[in-house]
Parts: sequence; structure tokens; C-alpha cells
Amino acid sequence: MSSYHRKYIVAGNWKMNKNAVEAKQFIEELVVELGTQSDVGVVVCPPFTALESVARALEGSHYCAVGAQNMHPEPSGAYTGEVSAEMLRHLFVSYVILGHSERRAYFGETDDFIRQKVLVALENNLKPILCVGETLEQRDAGHMFDVVGHQLREGMRGVDASQLESFVLAYEPVWAIGTGRTATPEQAQEMHAFLRKQLAGQFSEDVAQKVRILYGGSAKPDNVEQLFRQEDVDGGLVGGASLEVRSFMKIIEVAHQLTEQEFATV
Ligand code: PEP
Repeated sequence: MSSYHRKYIVAGNWKMNKNAVEAKQFIEELVVELGTQSDVGVVVCPPFTALESVARALEGSHYCAVGAQNMHPEPSGAYTGEVSAEMLRHLFVSYVILGHSERRAYFGETDDFIRQKVLVALENNLKPILCVGETLEQRDAGHMFDVVGHQLREGMRGVDASQLESFVLAYEPVWAIGTGRTATPEQAQEMHAFLRKQLAGQFSEDVAQKVRILYGGSAKPDNVEQLFRQEDVDGGLVGGASLEVRSFMKIIEVAHQLTEQEFATV
């Protein structure tokens, strides 16, 4: 982590897993395990159908926030199957994952559409977790910085710098998602530093230092420490390993220990 202190965030993306009952059980266990730790920002992102039971199970707890996995930019209307920012706010959702590579690949989401959602999320006081990342072919062809730089620039065009205090970016190389193949700490750091530099150019150095950049892609308890130790890696967006309380907690614990070490050396 950098000399500029950014609190780690560990966010769990459950994808299309867990019904409302399973989600409630998970949160009840997680709340006990988390206790009163507050130095790591913990976010769980269940499917829409479990948002309410998760929010209810978290009532009164200040140590875990709720995120959605997607939203539609329109406030209401004839958009079958979609959910608006206002509907999410109504369920006490505070984060929303936008531009996940599965949305881009399977549902044809474009940078333009993702930007509309980013702007609407911010207007509604939802904190976006904007995902960017290259495919293996793009990396092998040496195009990863162009691809990821473009996704960032387009996804955040028109955003006001004053809205970026709680903005979260997630670098998720597509070749590492759900594959068991993780980016090396050096590959992650290289891309995170690139993203931070681009944020400084697009907005300001101050904004670039404040935005949390999470790593995502087969992050697990046994590989996150080296990733989280990188200067520009501010936590993780975790898929598979967020589905069990034990493995999710272990990842949170790594972030907690690194935070303690950082303060011990100040
Ligand atoms: C994700 O899809 O956001 C993700 C990081 O998944 P996994 O950890 O399973 O690779």
C-alpha cells in the first residue's frame, strides 16, 4: 500500500449464487466473524433477489456495506428485467458494480452504456465499482494498456472530480476471472499504477490518490497478501472466494493485518 493511506476494500461479488435464505445465513455468520473490525471496508454484492435479506441481516451493523451487481441508467419505465438506481437506494444499497467483464461479454454492454450508469449511480449517491480489464488475446498482443485506458477514459467521461471521493475502480484481467489463474503482483501493480496515472491526467493527482483500485481475478486467501502489498493495490473484488465466510474472512484478515503493519511503521 502507498504512503498515502487508502483504506483497503474487500468486496465480494457473488454473481448468480445464493438465494435469499442462503444469503441471510452467510451474513449472520459474517457479522459474528467481523466483530467490530472497521479498518477494512467490507462490501457484499449479492444477486438482486437477496439484496433485501442481506440489508436486513446487516441492520445495525456498521462494518459491512451492501452492493448490487448491476443497474439500469433509466429511473423507471419499460425495461423488462432491469432495476434502477433509486430502487437500489431504497434497499439501502451503497455500492454498485458496473462494467463487469461478464456484463460486457455476455450482455453486450458498451463503454457508452456503462458511462451512463456511472453518471446515474453517482447522482443517486451510489458508489460505483467500475470494472476494467483486458482479455488474454489483448494482453498477448501487447494492447492491454490501450484497452484498459480506453475503458477507464470512456467509463468516466463527464464525471465531476468532486464526485470521486468514494469512487472505486477494479482491475480485473478477463483471463484471471474464475480461471484459477491470477495476475502476478507485478502485473497487477503495473496496471494499477497505469490507472492511477491516467486518473491524475483525466482529473487530478489528488483524485488519483483517493480513488481505491481493487484487484479482481481468482483472488484467494493464499495469494492476496502479495497482491495487497503492492503500492497501488487497495484491496480486492473477489468472486469465487467470497462465497464462503471462511475464505472471504481470511482475505479480509490479510487486509486488516497489512493495515496494522502499515500503522505500526508510521
Ligand atoms: C469477479 O468476477 O469479479 C471475480 C473476481 O471472480 P473470481 O474471483 O472468481 O475470479
